[in-house]
Amino acid sequence: MEQKTGASARTPSLSADEARSAILDRLAAVPGRERVAVRSALGRVLAEAVIAPCNVPAHDNSAMDGFAVRFADLTSGAETALTVVGTAFAGKPFSGIVGAGQAVRIMTGAPIPQGADTIVVQEVARTEGGQVIVPAGQRAGQNLRRAGEDLALGGVALPAGKRCGPAELGLLASLGVAEVTVHRRLRVAFFSTGDELASIGKPLAPGEVYDSNRYTLFGALSRLGCELLDMGVVRDDPAALETAFREASASADVILTSGGVSVGEADFIRELVNRLGQVAFWKIDIKPGRPMAFGRVGDAWLFGLPGNPVAVLVTFYQFVQDALLALSGVAPLPDSPLFEVVCDSVIRKQPGRREYLRGRLVRRGGKQIVELAGAQGSGILRSMSEANCFIVLSEAGGDVAPGDTVQIQLFDGLI
Ligand code: AMP
Ligand code: MG
Repeated sequence: MEQKTGASARTPSLSADEARSAILDRLAAVPGRERVAVRSALGRVLAEAVIAPCNVPAHDNSAMDGFAVRFADLTSGAETALTVVGTAFAGKPFSGIVGAGQAVRIMTGAPIPQGADTIVVQEVARTEGGQVIVPAGQRAGQNLRRAGEDLALGGVALPAGKRCGPAELGLLASLGVAEVTVHRRLRVAFFSTGDELASIGKPLAPGEVYDSNRYTLFGALSRLGCELLDMGVVRDDPAALETAFREASASADVILTSGGVSVGEADFIRELVNRLGQVAFWKIDIKPGRPMAFGRVGDAWLFGLPGNPVAVLVTFYQFVQDALLALSGVAPLPDSPLFEVVCDSVIRKQPGRREYLRGRLVRRGGKQIVELAGAQGSGILRSMSEANCFIVLSEAGGDVAPGDTVQIQLFDGLI
């Protein structure tokens, strides 16, 4: 990894991409796994591939309501009259055999009766007495769902490293699988640093600010399914910090802190954490969130995030989230996608750093456009709450004028 020399020779300056790969290259799943029931697998990461114990669907079945017929019976280029000899329901198959000149009324999901090989949809068929009239133009094998076409017996239904969402729970259930082996939850200890921080629930003294970062991080970590160790606020005091780092590294896989990594303060804790482990203090060429610490303290990984509330969220989502997923056993994922959208706002930017602005993707005049979501100061959480995406401006880029195309990264995925 190439490290450019920043303003401070002791604080290397990295691009966002360099920082991401420097982090992700070092991380692998923490040891430990457990068996859990399917419902409890939500948000958990499979430690072993799930091999399909059966075919899904289990048998050839009809994709439509209609008639099961023998394709060879159909007259090409003309109607064919067939005798309806029974009905097949999903869950109540037709137990006979479809013979020459015969058809079976069939419902979606019902097994294909023996002898039949093609489904004629009911909308094109006409019944007359005990007969069904099939028009010309049917295709052999149409409207059938084949046994195993979703998941084949013995095949990999879900790979190791897959994080289970709603679709995976359903897929496991479709195989009749009741339990899976997952990685154990990642244990994350987190605390805020700063003499000015007050805890919620009591009035602020002059000069104090409420500690919001711990709540932001609580939310972000909870959504990732981590086991949390909330260590509260730690004062800017070497002895208190040392105690906190020792306690955190003894009980957690990851230590997440906010504050205390800006140039003056970093010097203050640099010596401490380097005594307890090996930590790099980086200046990342991004805005907001320039300073960040990353490394090992004891047996734990440390992410020392900046103190500004928006910088916490930016660095968490750009660097920490994927790192925590990797430590949780998630197989490497593609970077979250960037979409090109026309911007409706004026944005001032100096070339040099990658900037993450809070944006709002809206539909206006039948088109998707993005606009700035309020004031962009790195302490202003309100605009973070009002935004639904980051506007990501590349290192080399300068000012943005209304009508320019910019890249955005959406906050929420659908599933
Ligand atoms: P620092 O990185 O410690 O220099 O903090 C940068 C700014 O973020 C300062 O204005 C701090 O008061 C503020 N800040 C630091 N930690 C927190 C926190 N836990 N909650 C809210 N604001 C914070
Ligand atoms: Mg501070």
